[in-house]
Amino acid sequence: MALLMKGSEVVNAMKERMLKDVEELGRKGVTPGLAIVRVGARPDDLSYERGAIKRCEGLGIKCRVFEYPEDITQQDLIDNINGINADVTVHGILLFRPLPGHMDENVIKHVISPEKDADCLNPVNVAKVFEGDETGFAPCTPEAVVEMLDHYGINVAGKKVTIIGRSLVVGKPLSMLLLKKHATITICHTKTKNLEETCKEADILIAAAGKARMVTDAYVSEGQVVVDVGINVDENGNLCGDVNLEKVERLAGLITPVPGGVGTVTTSVLAKHVIRAAKGSI
Ligand code: NAD
Repeated sequence: MALLMKGSEVVNAMKERMLKDVEELGRKGVTPGLAIVRVGARPDDLSYERGAIKRCEGLGIKCRVFEYPEDITQQDLIDNINGINADVTVHGILLFRPLPGHMDENVIKHVISPEKDADCLNPVNVAKVFEGDETGFAPCTPEAVVEMLDHYGINVAGKKVTIIGRSLVVGKPLSMLLLKKHATITICHTKTKNLEETCKEADILIAAAGKARMVTDAYVSEGQVVVDVGINVDENGNLCGDVNLEKVERLAGLITPVPGGVGTVTTSVLAKHVIRAAKGSI
């Protein structure tokens, strides 16, 4: 029976480290600040925002929400982001996406200052992830997977890691973060042939497809580490991951639950980035 890798354990361990950093910053007269930039009020964004504020304020990070109406012009949003970039009390910026259809994300993503880009929207930070340059900010979710594996003592060096999903939000940057840690990576996607076999061959399987419970026992081998990044709503309206826990838990060695797994750690990584940005601002 698989052991559960719980997000809360990772969050608690990270909290201890971060509280020390925030104290240290406080002694130097700096309170780390997060700006949450939201256009409109999608329920998913509001829910993530509440979680992020709770996590960050619990660590002593000051959060401010910049909410704009859905019909704000692109230029007005750019002007506002530039104002936030220039605000010395803000060290990290989180911008919710997708933006309304009349805006070009490919323009907006360049506007967020790379030094404050806590969730890796600016191509400068994306490039740093691909270069293996740790001076930038990786996207929070892939880094949360790395935190999870590190916390549970799973050394990926030399291991076969298969990732289902090639998005720029999860799959691609995660493959780079794990490659940097010397894993041998296979990235799968909708055109991958023999998906089940490829997944079975891995030592570590990471599901980030966004397909409710698609990973069954046909994808998993005995003792495998299974990380579920998916956050989906099933046909009954319940939150579930990409992994069918019931079918997989007899086979896997370690597995992350949904909810209570990777998603729980994501806001801690966001907080970690804000604190690092605040340290960098001194
Ligand atoms: P996406 O839709 O942008 O990308 C999904 C990827 O999975 C694509 O590359 C696609 O090729 C691949 N894929 C989809 N169906 C597949 C299939 N049947 N077989 C093989 N490959 C398949 O999604 P995303 O933004 O990368 O998010 C993926 C999942 O992670 C979603 O469930 C999302 O909600 C979740 N997510 C969680 C967090 C978190 O905080 N834990 C953050 C971001 C995304």
